[in-house]
Amino acid sequence: MGLLRPDFLLFVCLFLLFVGVIAFNRITQTHKVYLAFHFLMMLWPLGQFAVHITDYPEYQSFFIQLSFAAVGLIGPGWLFFVLFLTGRTAFLKPWRVVAILVPSLVSVAGVVWNPNHLFLKPYTDTYAEREYGPLFWLLTFIQFSYLFVTLINMFHALRADSSVHRRKQLATTLIGMFVLTVFSVLDLLVNVLLEDSLPVIPGLMSLGILLSDCCFVLAIYRYGMFDILSMAQQDIIDHMTTGIVVIDDNGKVLEANRGSVPFVQTAKGETFEMEKFLAPLHNQEEVGEFLYRYRHYPQERLQTEISLQDSRHVSLQISPVLDDMKSVLGRVITFHDVTELRKLVDEMNRKNEALHERNLELITIQEELYRVNLKLEQMAITDGLTGCYNRRFLMQQLEHEVLLNLRYRIPFSIFLFDIDFFKQINDRYGHLTGDEVIRRTADAVKASLRRTDILARYGGEEFTVYLPHTNQEQAELLAHRIMQAVADNRVEAGDEEIGITISMGIISENDFDRQVDDVKEYLRSLFSRVDAALYKAKNEGRNRVVTAS
Ligand code: GH3
Ligand code: MG
Ligand code: MG
Repeated sequence: MGLLRPDFLLFVCLFLLFVGVIAFNRITQTHKVYLAFHFLMMLWPLGQFAVHITDYPEYQSFFIQLSFAAVGLIGPGWLFFVLFLTGRTAFLKPWRVVAILVPSLVSVAGVVWNPNHLFLKPYTDTYAEREYGPLFWLLTFIQFSYLFVTLINMFHALRADSSVHRRKQLATTLIGMFVLTVFSVLDLLVNVLLEDSLPVIPGLMSLGILLSDCCFVLAIYRYGMFDILSMAQQDIIDHMTTGIVVIDDNGKVLEANRGSVPFVQTAKGETFEMEKFLAPLHNQEEVGEFLYRYRHYPQERLQTEISLQDSRHVSLQISPVLDDMKSVLGRVITFHDVTELRKLVDEMNRKNEALHERNLELITIQEELYRVNLKLEQMAITDGLTGCYNRRFLMQQLEHEVLLNLRYRIPFSIFLFDIDFFKQINDRYGHLTGDEVIRRTADAVKASLRRTDILARYGGEEFTVYLPHTNQEQAELLAHRIMQAVADNRVEAGDEEIGITISMGIISENDFDRQVDDVKEYLRSLFSRVDAALYKAKNEGRNRVVTAS
């Protein structure tokens, strides 16, 4: 048993190791499929060549069988590789893989087993010259069937794919398959069927394999299938949570990543109908407008937010894919779940609204406060009964005013007057009438004053008037006018009329050379002098004016 030589066994071990390394290392499935496929293709010329370098029939038989076993596997290899190339690996469910492999494995088993030389029969003890049996024809038939199925598949992919890039790649692969088919048919014709009438042309099939593989390699590099970057991009696209669906200008799906599954059920090759997708949401206001723009403005970028029936919020975006001439080749549709974001925004809006309301309330309160404050301010400086200023306000004003008057030598005067025999009015008509008398007297005085004069209630039924820009002469004139106004102002009490008189002290400042260090002290002396004048007026019989000396 020559096949059990140590070197051969070691070769088998190395080979298995090679297969193991490829199978269990992290390279892409496409790499693996290609390497396996390429390896199979290499085995054909190897076996064909090796059969001639040995005279041992069992080696010859082994090499021939190796060649044909490899060819027997090339058929499904083509099919798998094309499926990987066109990105339709989703089609490869385990049972489908098995179904695809079965015919090939059956024919390979026939080749390896070679029962009763049904596959291969040596001519006079050498396999260099051989005769093929029915199992060879079975293998050939199965291989051509694979080629046929693969070709149909390619045509289908070529028609479904609208990307120019991808079309070129598929066309290159198709040429490769065509070349291989032509060469294998030629080989079959020349070297098997017409063996007796035509000279043997060696290496026809091997040449076909080489040329078709060149086409493969070209297709691979054009598409960058082994390019780490594009693989990484594909990987990222596949693992994104954002759903991405790429459609051509007819709405046919060219790509639908895994992220799109929770949003839309579509697959490559199907037609994506936006109308159908949005149909359950037609009552949403933006949807109609969005659909209209989607239909009529394919070159536009669109965005809308939709609420799915399961209450998810989805941001839906459409980006056109344009060629150099700005015509639309297709569109990228992205789906992004914004439910959490929407919740946050809604929550924020609600809070904002509440805040806004609160703000409005605060503004109202502030306005109210402002009004109350104004009133309080007014109340703080006025007297409740008469509405005149109060004594405190007048004193504050005077502290400021008299200093200015003295500095700029502006004359000013002060009146202090008191209602005569007021106790008697109170006693006779009651306090309410007394109050009315005080009020009416204040009104009468106010009416006789100028706008710049300040009338203040000094206490009880005693009032004071500050008269800016008023010298003694003007003050006395005004004082008599006031006396008259009060006398004319008779207050009714029941059937009676009460006549009112007042006594008044006047003081006018005309000494502008005096030195005032303490304005409060100065005011106190001013008021004690005018008070003395009032006292004098009372003493002299009331209803009169006395000017302080
Ligand atoms: P005279 O001519 O000397 O001024 O005599 P008179 O009675 O007016 O005496 P006096 O000025 O001292 O009287 C003040 C009285 O005024 C005492 C008090 O009962 C009364 N009175 C003070 N404030 C008010 C007030 O707001 N309303 C009323 N109804 N009476 C007041
Ligand atoms: Mg009085
Ligand atoms: Mg008094």
